[in-house]
Amino acid sequence: MTKNQTLIVGGGLSGLALAAQLHAAGHPFTLFEARDRLGGRIMTLEDAGHAFDMGPAWFWPGQDRMQRLASELGVPVFEQFAQGDAVYEDETGKLHRGTGFASMAGSYRLAGGMSALIEGLAQGLPSGAIHLNANVTKIAQGKLHLSDGRGFEGDHIALALPPRIAAEIPCEDAGFDAARATMAAIPTWMAGHAKCVATYDRPFWREAGFSGDMASRRGPLAEVHDASSMGGEIGALFGFLGVPAEARRNAGDALKRAAVDQLARCFGDQASTPRSVFLVDWAQEAATATPKDAEPLYSHPRYGKPLALNGLWHGTLIFGGSEVAPEYGGFLEGALAAAEDVAQTILAAKASG
Ligand SMILES: Cc1cc2nc3c(=O)[nH]c(=O)nc-3n(C[C@H](O)[C@H](O)[C@H](O)COP(=O)(O)OP(=O)(O)OC[C@H]3O[C@@H](n4cnc5c(N)ncnc54)[C@H](O)[C@@H]3O)c2cc1C
Repeated sequence: MTKNQTLIVGGGLSGLALAAQLHAAGHPFTLFEARDRLGGRIMTLEDAGHAFDMGPAWFWPGQDRMQRLASELGVPVFEQFAQGDAVYEDETGKLHRGTGFASMAGSYRLAGGMSALIEGLAQGLPSGAIHLNANVTKIAQGKLHLSDGRGFEGDHIALALPPRIAAEIPCEDAGFDAARATMAAIPTWMAGHAKCVATYDRPFWREAGFSGDMASRRGPLAEVHDASSMGGEIGALFGFLGVPAEARRNAGDALKRAAVDQLARCFGDQASTPRSVFLVDWAQEAATATPKDAEPLYSHPRYGKPLALNGLWHGTLIFGGSEVAPEYGGFLEGALAAAEDVAQTILAAKASG
């Protein structure tokens, strides 16, 4: 195995996009992903052959890298369904119907879900260069080790993962140690959230003039949107849970039942018989969230790469991942912006010898 390669830690959108750019430039890489699947915070589940996003579902106008990648990979883009009335459930359970709140109108979704990007990127890469179940448990200058004891060497290491997760990787280097507090202070976007999706034979709420948007002060879902398939063949509603991470622990089934009851309160009896109910609690995923992420973020942080994370190991340790992106930090677009930035840095270092 060549030492003249980049070791990429993390097989989310950022790590895979970086791998694709290095590969296209003829620069070797090996990518290590701790989970048994690629995608990281991108996770799409299926019902009746249709895709439902349990992590990110949207991108927005002006996020050109996302638009371009979807187009290059031939993944159809469609607009979030938002026509009709929204529902507001107040703390007493009283329902108010109207327009203008909780709508994600104008955002875009992907047919096949966000995982279509992950599959498309992975297909273009040499499969031997991608290691799943490859938890990086130690790094040092120019090398890393996996939990199974295997070691790999490279001329650059790119950490394409949330900085707060990177801060937990053991490393004996004093420079890395000095940067740890900076890494740990960067919150991971959406890591403390949980998302619930209920699927239905058809989007029946649309027939009653509802958009599927709902905001609630009663819960357990705090914010709901239509998540139906592109052509409306299968209906789906998804909601972010408003219940704190600690109270969600081991409460999955009860929360699913309470979420379905709430959907029936807000959209009518037909909502009480979903085809499937999925719930993913990101706060319980060790490769995404730390205990610090249990406290939800109420506004989007100002992201970017702090000075302390630059120039480590003579510039051979490079932070990637959406949270350190030069723009759109925390978002999918940021994951792509970070990949672009890291690829340029590595390829420029190669070019200058
Ligand atoms: C519920 C939810 C909803 C969201 N909604 C949106 C949205 O609608 N639009 C939007 O733009 N963004 C949204 N986001 C944010 C979006 O998901 C992220 O910006 C994006 O996925 C980040 O990609 P990434 O590759 O930088 O990081 P990640 O996807 O976190 O990838 C990091 C990877 O590193 C791996 N890893 C961790 N530790 C190790 C280790 N020690 N060794 C090896 N591998 C390791 C992880 O398993 C993971 O695969 C949402 C996120 C969540 C959780």
